[in-house]
Amino acid sequence: MSFAALWESLLPVGRDGGTGGYRRFSWTAADAECRRWFFDNAAERGFRSAADRNGNLWAWWDVPGAGPGGGVVTGSHLDSVPDGGAYDGPLGVVTGFAAIDLLRERGAAPVRPLAVAAFCEEEGGRFGVACLGSRLLTGAIEPARARALTDRDGTTLAAAMAAAGQDPAGIGPDPELAAGIGAYVELHVEQGRALAGLDAAVGVAEGIWPHGRWRLAFTGRADHAGTTRLTDRHDPMLAGAVAILAAREAAARHGALATVGKVAAEPGAVNAISSAVTAWLDARAPDEPRLRAVVDDVLAQARAAAAAHGVDLAASEESVTPAVDFDAALRDRMVATLAAAGIRAPVLATGAGHDAGVLAAQVPAGMLFVRNPTGVSHSPAEHAEPGDCATGVTALAAVLEDLACH
Ligand SMILES: [Zn+2]
Repeated sequence: MSFAALWESLLPVGRDGGTGGYRRFSWTAADAECRRWFFDNAAERGFRSAADRNGNLWAWWDVPGAGPGGGVVTGSHLDSVPDGGAYDGPLGVVTGFAAIDLLRERGAAPVRPLAVAAFCEEEGGRFGVACLGSRLLTGAIEPARARALTDRDGTTLAAAMAAAGQDPAGIGPDPELAAGIGAYVELHVEQGRALAGLDAAVGVAEGIWPHGRWRLAFTGRADHAGTTRLTDRHDPMLAGAVAILAAREAAARHGALATVGKVAAEPGAVNAISSAVTAWLDARAPDEPRLRAVVDDVLAQARAAAAAHGVDLAASEESVTPAVDFDAALRDRMVATLAAAGIRAPVLATGAGHDAGVLAAQVPAGMLFVRNPTGVSHSPAEHAEPGDCATGVTALAAVLEDLACH
């Protein structure tokens, strides 16, 4: 089937009529529809398909006589952030099926099994932990902790899975499944403008920047906005504001990225000085020393501002993901394969996390990026040109053929 037809068949699923954005949250009705789409496509191709114990989806093109292990897997995820775009995740799954279709049309003869995978809750859009499905598979998160994760309505992952017909008691590491994977190659829409600047339709990932989340809780004293003299105030919002500006400055100084995208003020009244302000810092950098330098700078300025305003600051690290260097041999092989196919694919690093980064701890993993002309992602405006998607299919097919047929 053509990429365009496959793409169109998935496009309406989970799209909000008002915003045009996607709300494909795991274990919801939209998710069930995505799963049906996946299994229908597996069945049409005669692939062996199943959800694994963690709810990740697999469609295998088995090769009779091939020994165990060495499977060549491609794919990505079908879930979305709230009001996300069409490409982040689905592009890799659709491209996976389309690339294998291309191999079959060409009469390629794999000596190793090939699979398309769709990992569960990659965005953490419902339960807050990114790459949950691949983390569970590789044992990077405790099953008990995962089962207890809650969505914004207080529904636990365990309850949501059970309601969707998947047994939550079974979640956890799946060494047998992981052992069957010889290589994982994930194609993903680029979340940035590097390829646009390099005039290239596709790129190969070098690695993923170390990144993390910190919580800065400022506690001051609630008071009347109309009667409290400026000098008498203990306003945590002012210290928070300093931290937010410090994040931007520190990121620029260290060649990194830092963002405060979420702030909570209590009690949250227009006419009251806040009693408490919590700000969440997301920081990403090319290496861990620079990541630490950014966070140290922000915390130092936040502490100084808190002291100056008579406010308490409790800072805590919520999560840190170390740098991922994708398998160098696989990366070099992908670059060489693409060059031989006449596709110029620059090598680039990214600040965004992916299932491939989680799987890289256990299996050789790599990534292909497809150019995003505006760089916008996690938004309905996210886009890739049809011609670039077609190059992505050709590139992925070349890589899969090289890995599975030789
Ligand atoms: Zn993604």
